[in-house]
Amino acid sequence: MFFNRKEKKHKVQQRVDIELLKKAFELSNDAVLVVSDEAEVLYANKKMRDFFSLPEKYTGKKLEYMPKIKIQKEWKKLDALIDEAASKKSDQIFTVRHAELESKRRDRGNIPIDLYIDRTASEDDKDGVAMVFMQDLTQQKECREMLYRHKLTKLPNQLQAQEDLNRFFAQIHLHNKKLALLFIDIDNFSEIRSLVGGERSEQILIHFAEYLKQLTKESKSYVYHTFSNIFMICMPKVESLDEVHYLARQIQRELRSFYKISNIHFHLTASIGISIYPDSGSTLTLMDNGFKALSEAQKSGFGHIYVYKKTELESKYDELTLFNEVHHAIDNGEFEVYYQPIVRAKDVEVVGAEALIRWKHKIHGYIPPDVFVPMLEKSGFIIDLGRYVLSEVLKQQKRWELFKFKPIEVSINMSLLELETEGFVENVAQQLAEHQVAPELIKFEITEGAAMQNESKADAQLHALKKLGVSIALDDFGTGYTSFAYLKKFPANILKIDKSMVDHILDQQEDQRIIRAMIELGHNLGMKIVVEGIESLEMADRLIAYGCDYMQGYYFSRPLPAFEFQEMIRR
Ligand code: C2E
Ligand code: CA
Ligand code: CA
Repeated sequence: MFFNRKEKKHKVQQRVDIELLKKAFELSNDAVLVVSDEAEVLYANKKMRDFFSLPEKYTGKKLEYMPKIKIQKEWKKLDALIDEAASKKSDQIFTVRHAELESKRRDRGNIPIDLYIDRTASEDDKDGVAMVFMQDLTQQKECREMLYRHKLTKLPNQLQAQEDLNRFFAQIHLHNKKLALLFIDIDNFSEIRSLVGGERSEQILIHFAEYLKQLTKESKSYVYHTFSNIFMICMPKVESLDEVHYLARQIQRELRSFYKISNIHFHLTASIGISIYPDSGSTLTLMDNGFKALSEAQKSGFGHIYVYKKTELESKYDELTLFNEVHHAIDNGEFEVYYQPIVRAKDVEVVGAEALIRWKHKIHGYIPPDVFVPMLEKSGFIIDLGRYVLSEVLKQQKRWELFKFKPIEVSINMSLLELETEGFVENVAQQLAEHQVAPELIKFEITEGAAMQNESKADAQLHALKKLGVSIALDDFGTGYTSFAYLKKFPANILKIDKSMVDHILDQQEDQRIIRAMIELGHNLGMKIVVEGIESLEMADRLIAYGCDYMQGYYFSRPLPAFEFQEMIRR
């Protein structure tokens, strides 16, 4: 039999197509299997042969065993799934996400996969052929685990804790129970580390993590390794504080009875901070308050337990109502920008101001930003607020210019979320142009903690901002853990030393030394120094003597409405 030329060319083309497809499938990272209804393998690519440990030339033979796939806790055989796919009379491909393939190899566990089956058959449903695709999710799973687990101890980390907490909080009102967080920090750990070295101290952490894992399994709670040597336990359903104290003491007892690592005995102690929902704070603040409790516990020395109590401020407002209301506050004109004078040290003259937002609430009166700024950050509305503050400040600048006031440099607080938002820098540029205000009159303050959270992204944006001609200040300096290396490359013009650093400057020699070192450090890096929270003449005198450049605090003035601030600079 002879083909005519056209037919022959067509057949050749088909063969080439199939060879090419096979090659592509061979290279693919997805497993591909074509089987007949009689379980005869028509084709299996390399990945699939690996999955089933099949020899290279397998086509034409029956599958020796029927692979099992776990779908939501239930094991099913592949042929059963193919039948299921066939019985679905639609054109869509039968899809199962997040399944598991039973591994034939002892050395590895089940393989996480997404499964796709497409079965085709002749009209009378004879000679059915199924195409089976399996996408190996091992790498994805590993990536996720890396993101959500602590590198050293493999315990779930803070990111995972945050997700779990949201889930627990959603359920808590159903059970009418409380939720407790315990923050556990092994005391004096850096000393221990310097004594026994990095490797052994890591072993202690791993050992301790194992213990906590066992303990929490027994007590129906969850353990996380948040960072460095701080662990967190979440007890999602507690009746009373006694239960929590009991667990805390149990942990402390375990640590005291010694650990033996490489023949060295350790009697360890731990400080434990506890926060309980709803007694210690809202869902938004519970974690932070737990950390605060831990730092209180540590202040009392080794091996203490401290339970966080709500501050007056926190118990005054119903958080959820405020959360709803704050989003309408811009439209309702309830926000107002206040200005707190910043004075130049050498002549104690007002040369600048910090813009501080105020919320005039119709029932509660003034609500401090510490209460609502975190709420706006959670919901993303902080971006709208930031734009509002900037436009208010620019309008004010324009008015001062028109009425021939001296130039006043205004600092605006910026949250990390704003900085990370697409178009933030563009918006600043656009507003500056629109209001025709010199960029030298605007400064942006970012807190030390925020700037460090996402270094690389913050860095790029800050450089872009700086290019516009505005200045950058590193706010609340001294409250975070900025390394010298980081500070050196941080694109700030101004270092703003936090109030907490200067509170005890008159009677604590240690604090005096630290402040002087900070000022010198800033100056060496070419930055100007602002000290905030100055409440007395003595403090001001001391800081002037130490060489700070600018000062801000109640001693000079509280934050004022624009009109009153204007009176101050009129002279
Ligand atoms: P911050 O940036 O550290 O602002 C300084 C805070 O210290 C202000 O509180 C100010 O009133 C207060 N303060 C100034 N001098 C003294 C003093 O001598 N003694 C004492 N005890 N306190 C002093 P305020 O206005 O309540 O603001 C609190 C925080 O809210 C600010 O801390 C800032 O992080 C945030 N915030 C305020 N306005 C805005 C805003 O427009 N945008 C954003 N993102 N955050 C803002
Ligand atoms: Ca500030
Ligand atoms: Ca500050």
